[in-house]
Amino acid sequence: MAGESGVLIICETDPSGELRSITGELLAAARTLADSMSGESVSAALIGRGVAAKAQEVIALGADTVYVVDDPIFEHYLSETFVPAAIAVREQANPKVILIGHTPNGRELGPSLGFRLDTGVSTDTTEVNIDPSSGGLVAARSLAGGLFRQVTAFNRLPHVATVHMKAYDAAEPDAARTGQVVNVDASVDASQAQTRFVSHTEVAVEGIRMEDARIVITGGRGLGSSEAFDDLTKLADMTGGAVGATRAAADSEYCGQDIMIGITGRVVSPEVYLAIALSGASQHMAGCSGSKNIVAINRDPEANIFKESRFGVVGDYQQVLPAFIEELENLGTA
Ligand SMILES: Cc1cc2nc3c(=O)[nH]c(=O)nc-3n(C[C@H](O)[C@H](O)[C@H](O)COP(=O)(O)OP(=O)(O)OC[C@H]3O[C@@H](n4cnc5c(N)ncnc54)[C@H](O)[C@@H]3O)c2cc1C
Repeated sequence: MAGESGVLIICETDPSGELRSITGELLAAARTLADSMSGESVSAALIGRGVAAKAQEVIALGADTVYVVDDPIFEHYLSETFVPAAIAVREQANPKVILIGHTPNGRELGPSLGFRLDTGVSTDTTEVNIDPSSGGLVAARSLAGGLFRQVTAFNRLPHVATVHMKAYDAAEPDAARTGQVVNVDASVDASQAQTRFVSHTEVAVEGIRMEDARIVITGGRGLGSSEAFDDLTKLADMTGGAVGATRAAADSEYCGQDIMIGITGRVVSPEVYLAIALSGASQHMAGCSGSKNIVAINRDPEANIFKESRFGVVGDYQQVLPAFIEELENLGTA
């Protein structure tokens, strides 16, 4: 296809039909790219069952045009139905760049789409830019737990990239934004699918979801016990935060594996990341380096976490933490 222009993002919705936060993050990344392409447009593919009602929300988050593929066969993600739907949207939108979330679904959709479009794909991308000389996409990602940075340029259109969660901050929704909504008939034949949806289970969360928390309090192996994690939970309750852990702490069974942060765990970017008795290994930092303020407590002044922190206290957490909690109580946060 000739005449490609602008950026297309693929929206994601949760099982209850709400937009997942990655949708806003992709739109923010797309807007940055489109602005550096002399103000080209941002479009979004909204694929699912009963999703048409969400089109205005997508526009409020930054899309100029929303292509809606609304059909019961898209109730659950299957690459065999979503890839042809995305291709149908691409044929109408004809974008230069397609951005997809590096989520469980997007990790499959991105490479599958790239293969079908016979183009290159950058996965788990943390930064996207337009090369001013070629006008093409330049996508960067970190490798080996942040030890290396890989930069990829593309020579075929469209350029496809899956984008690391929390790599971009979603714009505040603007209900006054206007845009175009286009209904697309993807003519997907679900009977040809070789796979079928069986079930989906969301992990039950007590308190605030870690990815949405403004404060994340993370404990490392240096805490030494599961009882110490109970203290972190108290602190999280006081501050409205969520508790995270390093792999070493989770492997030591001081806490569950589900709260592990890092390259093989969850990715967070809160306002405040309180890192307690953890060394700051690159594999851990891959999950929290997007935090606005990292505050470390560690008894080793040479610990790597201090290089990554805005504020730090050198000392035994068993002395520092009670004093910290007392100060919070004095401030009336409790
Ligand atoms: C392929 C691969 C993937 C990995 N993925 C991840 C991942 O996703 N997430 C992750 O977290 N790790 C991951 N790891 C493990 C990672 O390399 C580190 O081993 C791990 O992050 C270390 O955890 P830690 O900082 O809790 O423990 P340690 O490195 O043992 O650090 C403990 C820290 O606590 C301090 N300390 C001890 N006692 C006290 C005290 N009383 N008061 C204050 N400070 C104290 C020490 O000075 C030390 O700095 C991965 C490793 C590999 C090889």
